[in-house]
Amino acid sequence: MTFESLGLSAELLRALADQGYAQPTPIQLQAIPVILDGRDVLAAAQTGTGKTAGFTLPLLQRLNEAAGKSNRQHRPRALILVPTRELAAQVAESVSTYGRHLSMRSAVIFGGVKINPQIAELRRGVDVLIATPGRLLDHVQQRTLDLSQIEILVLDEADRMLDMGFIRDIRKILALLPERRQNLLFSATFSGEIRTLADQLLDRPVSVDVAPRNTAAETVTQVAHPVDKARKRELLSHLIGANNWRQVLVFTRTKHGANRLAKQLESDGLSAAAIHGNKTQGARTRALAGFKDGSVRVLVATDIAARGLDIDQLPHVVNFELPNVAEDYVHRIGRTGRAGNEGEAMSLVCVDELKLLRDIERLLGRKIRSETLPGYEPDPSIQPEPIQNGRSSGRRAQPGGSRADSRPRSRPSDKPAAKRQRGPARAERPNGNAGPTKQAGQRSAEAKRGTQHKAQHTRRSKPALLGS
Ligand code: AMP
Repeated sequence: MTFESLGLSAELLRALADQGYAQPTPIQLQAIPVILDGRDVLAAAQTGTGKTAGFTLPLLQRLNEAAGKSNRQHRPRALILVPTRELAAQVAESVSTYGRHLSMRSAVIFGGVKINPQIAELRRGVDVLIATPGRLLDHVQQRTLDLSQIEILVLDEADRMLDMGFIRDIRKILALLPERRQNLLFSATFSGEIRTLADQLLDRPVSVDVAPRNTAAETVTQVAHPVDKARKRELLSHLIGANNWRQVLVFTRTKHGANRLAKQLESDGLSAAAIHGNKTQGARTRALAGFKDGSVRVLVATDIAARGLDIDQLPHVVNFELPNVAEDYVHRIGRTGRAGNEGEAMSLVCVDELKLLRDIERLLGRKIRSETLPGYEPDPSIQPEPIQNGRSSGRRAQPGGSRADSRPRSRPSDKPAAKRQRGPARAERPNGNAGPTKQAGQRSAEAKRGTQHKAQHTRRSKPALLGS
């Protein structure tokens, strides 16, 4: 099967040829024709499957075909909502790459950076808008963005958006969109919450499912190495050195842990950088650029920071610590084995984490091969201890739960934009405290913003689709 046979236009085929893509991936094969047909789509696809091109190509083609429609102010006609700024930047890059031979304008907006340049860009006119939910609502509130011309909505990595507590923001955004539109929902995992969202959002969707749900990419070899907690760093340095790994992504559970490990690896003589939500956007961009160009050999990341990282042919992912939420394991190992390449995912598992490992195996529906490395045998006299900075259960994060990194439900973005201070990562809280629930002030601020939205949009054609 070729891209030509999917009905893509000459301009898009040229862009694909520029990229050197020989043939469509399975998700592209399934999704492109139905999206071109104008159908709503519910897609189960992990990152690395080529899903971004799977929705971007037909989206661009449909917009281009309908380009004659009057939209003189160049208001956005397609909205791609994503959970993190990294993913926003990468999707935006894909949109410009695939749309390079079309005269389509795109813009990306996310928090943590100044809003004024984004306002200026929106003013110049945009066809495709890529955004994280909170900053999008900031623009709506400041009346610098009009969503009334949206024809196509994409929710990318919808599971992660819900995980991060964006459901309220998503509902608010849906209420601002025109009733008639095409909806595409992409998710790696399918919880009840995602199903509910899909049922309410999608109109007779075509289901596209390229990987069995909740299973890890088949091209990734997975192994668990039992080891004592205190010896993990030593083992990691040994593995990197002995195997001469040149590019390895390492996951820790906490931002603090990521910093500490990066420093320790540096002192072991390995070039390392940490990437997480306390880092400035500049530091994150620099770390990622160094990792991509080979000057940083080990990138130590938290789950949320790593979300959406697209590094071609990343060969090694190491779980220095297992995630508290089993689904995060699937996302983590999805960083390797992308687009059909071989990848290796290694987990260093101490006695405290055996329950987390069982949760992951239950989710995957199979056991992960365990291999004890000579010289690193765990000391059988060490008793398990509760896991710090996180829940020891593998259940999904609850509102206000104590995930050290993703810190979902009450975020700085819940404050009205005017009151918001320096914009930290929208996706991550600037501190690692386990905030139990929303603070009263935040709740009322959010309620106020909800009221303002209502006031601004009293004449919209359809009430909130997912009205809570
Ligand atoms: P995604 O799942 O969208 O994050 O894409 C994963 C990677 O696959 C990206 O680096 C894309 O550039 C690449 N990719 C997407 N489609 C193709 C294709 N048809 N052939 C080869 N590589 C692709």
